Amino acid sequence: MDVSLEFLGGLATSDNLTGSCTAISVSCGKKTTTILVDVGLVQGDVKNFFANNSKLLKSINPAKVDYVIITHAHIDHVGLLPFLVNNGFKGKVLCTKQTADLIPIMLADSFKIQRELAKRKCQHADERPRNKDRTSKETGPLFTERDVAKAINLIMKSGLTYKEQVKLSNQMTLKFYASGHILGGAISVLTMTEPKSKKVLRLGFSGDLGRQEGMLLYPPAVVKEPLDCWFTESTYGNKHHPERQPEVDELFATITEAASSGKKIIIPSFALQRSQELIYLLTLAMKSGKIPDIPIYLDSPMSVKLTEVYAKYWDLGSFKNKHTLDFNPFNKENPYVQFITDYEESIQLAGKMAPLIVISGSGMCDAGRVRNHLRVNLPSDQTIVCLVGYMSPASLGRKLQGNPAKVNMNGQEVIIKAQIKLFQSFSAHADCSELVDYAKAVLSVEATGQTIFILHGEETGSANLKQLLEAEFSPDGTQVVIPKEKEKLKIKVR
Ligand SMILES: [Zn+2]
Repeated sequence: MDVSLEFLGGLATSDNLTGSCTAISVSCGKKTTTILVDVGLVQGDVKNFFANNSKLLKSINPAKVDYVIITHAHIDHVGLLPFLVNNGFKGKVLCTKQTADLIPIMLADSFKIQRELAKRKCQHADERPRNKDRTSKETGPLFTERDVAKAINLIMKSGLTYKEQVKLSNQMTLKFYASGHILGGAISVLTMTEPKSKKVLRLGFSGDLGRQEGMLLYPPAVVKEPLDCWFTESTYGNKHHPERQPEVDELFATITEAASSGKKIIIPSFALQRSQELIYLLTLAMKSGKIPDIPIYLDSPMSVKLTEVYAKYWDLGSFKNKHTLDFNPFNKENPYVQFITDYEESIQLAGKMAPLIVISGSGMCDAGRVRNHLRVNLPSDQTIVCLVGYMSPASLGRKLQGNPAKVNMNGQEVIIKAQIKLFQSFSAHADCSELVDYAKAVLSVEATGQTIFILHGEETGSANLKQLLEAEFSPDGTQVVIPKEKEKLKIKVR
C-alpha cells in the first residue's frame, strides 16, 4: 500500500490562509483511491480571484477524485466544490448531517458574491459578457448555478453522524469527531490497513479546531485512536485569546447604557456561528434580567436561513447549554429577536432611532446590509458599534478598529461620531495553547515516528506553533513540518 500526500492550499507558505485543500492518494495493487480533505475557496484577493482558485486544476483531475471530505461549512473549506463539479468531479462528498444542511446556504451566497464580482469586473474593464448568464473565463464566476445545484445534490447524499465508521474502500475507513468550531464541524480520522501485514496507518485532520470554552458548542472531542499523522490548523498559532467573561460583561454594560440613554447598537457579524452565538448570549442575558429587554434584530437573509438550521438541531444534542433556556432561541418565536429578511424593513431599521441592537453582515463590513446601517448611523453620537470579529487588513472593519474620524464608503465620505468598541475574545478558533494541548491529547509526547503537519495559518502563526510543538514533543520521536504549497510526500505504513 502506498500513501502519498499533496498540500494544495491554506498553507503558511502560500499567499493566503484560505483555500484549504489536502490531497491523499492510496494505492493498493492496481487500484488508487484519491481523497481531498476540504476544497476551500481562496478568498480576499479580488484582483487574482480567478487565477488563485483555478490553479487547483494544475494539480488534480477532478474526474479522478473518489471522495471529498468537508470538515465544515465555511467557504474557505467548501467553496470550490461546485468548481470541482464543473470540471468533472463525480465522486462522493462526506460531511456531517449538520454541515450538509448548512452548505447549500453558504454555496448559494458565495455564488451570488462571485456573480456580483464578475459583473463589477466586466463593467470596470468595459467588457461585457456575451449574454447575461455567462461571464468570461477571466472574470468568473468559477462555476455556474447548475454546478452549485449538482454540488448540493452530492452533499444531500451525505450526512454522517459523529463517531460513525464509514468504509471508503477495502483498506480504508473514515470517522468524524466534533471539532467544536461551528455547528457540524468535524475532526476527520482516516484509518488505512495494509492488506498483507495488517499494519495500520491513521491520519487525523483538525479542520478548524474550536475552543475549550465555546459559547454554544462542546469543546473539541478527543480522537481515541492512536494517530500517526496529525494535520493541525494554525490560524491563532501565535496568539492567546483574552478571557471572554470580562468582555461579555463589557458588552452587557454597553447594552445597559444604550438602553438607558436611547442609543442604538450595531454589531457587524459573520452569518454562520457568530450571529447564532450572539442571539443565544443576548437572549439568555435578557431572559435572566442581566441586561434590559431591548429589541434585537437579526438583519441578514443568509443568517436568518442559517439560524433555521441551528433551530433544527437545538433539541438534537448539538449545544452544550440547551438546559439554560426553556425555549429554542433560534426559532422565529424567540420573543427577544426579530428576524429581518425584507429589504425595505432593513432600510427602515437603519433610519430608526431607539434603543435597539442590530446584528447584521458581513462580519468585516465589506458587503451586505451592515454597510447601510453603518453609513446611516456612523455620523450619529447616538450609535455604538461593537466589533466582535476578525477583520482582515484591507477591510472596512479593520479601519473602524482604528477609531478614525471618517471613512470612505462607496466613494462617499462618512464622518464618524459613533462610539466604536472592540471585543477580541469571541473567536471560534482554538488559540496557540489550545492547539498545543489538543495535539498532546491526541498524540503521545514520547512516541516515535509521529508527524505533525501545520496547515491553515499565516507564516508567523505556523512558525510559532511549530516552535511550541517541538518544545513539547520528543525531538527524536515526532517530526513537526510546515508543508509548502504543492509539496508532495510519501507516508510509510509502520
Ligand atoms: Zn472555519
